[in-house]
Amino acid sequence: MTATTVRPPRIDPLDLAGIDDVLTEEEKAIRGAVRHLCDSAVDPYVAEWFEAGELPQIRELAKEMGSLGLLGMHLEGYGCAGMSAVDYGLAWLELEASDSGIRSLVSVQGSLTMFAIWRHGSEEHKQQWLPAMAAGEAIGCFGLTEADHGSDPAAMRTRARQDGGGERADWILDGAKMWITNGSVADVAVVWAQTDDGIRGFVVPTDTPGFSAPLIKHKMSLRASVTSELVLEGVRLPHDAVLPEVRGLKGPLSCLNEARYGIVWGSMGAARSSFATALKYAERRVQFDRPISGFQLTQAKLAQMSMELTTGTLLALHLGRRKDAGTLRPEQVSLGKLNNVSKALEIARSARTILGANGISLEYPVIRHMNNLESVLTYEGTPEMHTLVVGQALTCQAAFR
Ligand code: FAD
Repeated sequence: MTATTVRPPRIDPLDLAGIDDVLTEEEKAIRGAVRHLCDSAVDPYVAEWFEAGELPQIRELAKEMGSLGLLGMHLEGYGCAGMSAVDYGLAWLELEASDSGIRSLVSVQGSLTMFAIWRHGSEEHKQQWLPAMAAGEAIGCFGLTEADHGSDPAAMRTRARQDGGGERADWILDGAKMWITNGSVADVAVVWAQTDDGIRGFVVPTDTPGFSAPLIKHKMSLRASVTSELVLEGVRLPHDAVLPEVRGLKGPLSCLNEARYGIVWGSMGAARSSFATALKYAERRVQFDRPISGFQLTQAKLAQMSMELTTGTLLALHLGRRKDAGTLRPEQVSLGKLNNVSKALEIARSARTILGANGISLEYPVIRHMNNLESVLTYEGTPEMHTLVVGQALTCQAAFR
């Protein structure tokens, strides 16, 4: 009698630790709905958009995302979906598994621009912009960075002054912002500027005379994303255009913290897509008469990727549960962004090597993720800045200057 080998059922190689088991059915359903949208509205086209360096269907896409409740999805009221931080994270992971540029569109809309208005704006700002932005009928951008002031935005040069005396005098904005996602297509910009009273935020309809947003070209990363300069030449705004509820750098930093939290999750999406592509490729690609997945060196790469993907996703989930409990601290978000983006980049680079020459082709998503992650590494705080935030938390000493 010959002994039969009973093979155990293969575990999901994309979720070796069984993280799915600790998600609720509702969380999985939200994730599934986002994946469904990305499968139909993004994945078939995104390599072409990346190659062409454009996002031609941005308004249609924004409306589709709005109808699914993805825009400002973690905010309450004003047409926003009011979902949990973990729902929001799972959605971001799926969006970035498709493309970091698509996730950036949604992040800048919901976590930066809408959040700034929702948290710091007047009731009139909220009524005017949030329902339209939640529906994807209006697109927003967030102008903090300047050409000469990135990691140190407190030194920004853009200035707002009141024209004449009294609290009800118009504001006049002059200056320029650089590297602004959604800039050229935005209907509204939240612009941060120096005033006599410190840094303040302004809600700027982009059809205001003196405002322009030329497109930044020649990017080799986030090509399926609109990136622009904002030029403000004597932009006259009514007295109530200023965000009334905040003064100083804590205004923009509070918004960046929201978006960074999303990146902790999103980067794991780009990593998962890269890993899944490499695993499938390795199983099919035959060299020296066997699939390259059978070579120890390939397996070592795959095991390393799986380990980083698992630990990064667990970290994201842990931070998400803390955010839902109201206990998440900014330095914990820094830790998450610092770890997960650099690990995602390592996974994408390693996946690229497994694909050999095909690794550099846009026929596969890996090189696109790899190039995109170079931007994700830099924006929302560079690794050096987050290292310094973590260093300060550990030592109680600031080493920024
Ligand atoms: P710099 O600040 O000049 O830094 C250059 C290098 O010096 C980095 O490695 C940095 O870590 C290092 N460095 C700086 N200071 C220190 C220090 N004290 N110690 C050690 N090292 C240091 N901005 C917005 O406001 N809105 C947007 O929508 C937006 N979208 C973007 C989209 C893309 C595609 C990109 C690439 C950027 C975007 N940004 C946006 C800008 C982004 O946030 C900045 O690029 C980022 O903050 C870094 O600023 P910087 O490029 O001026 O680099």
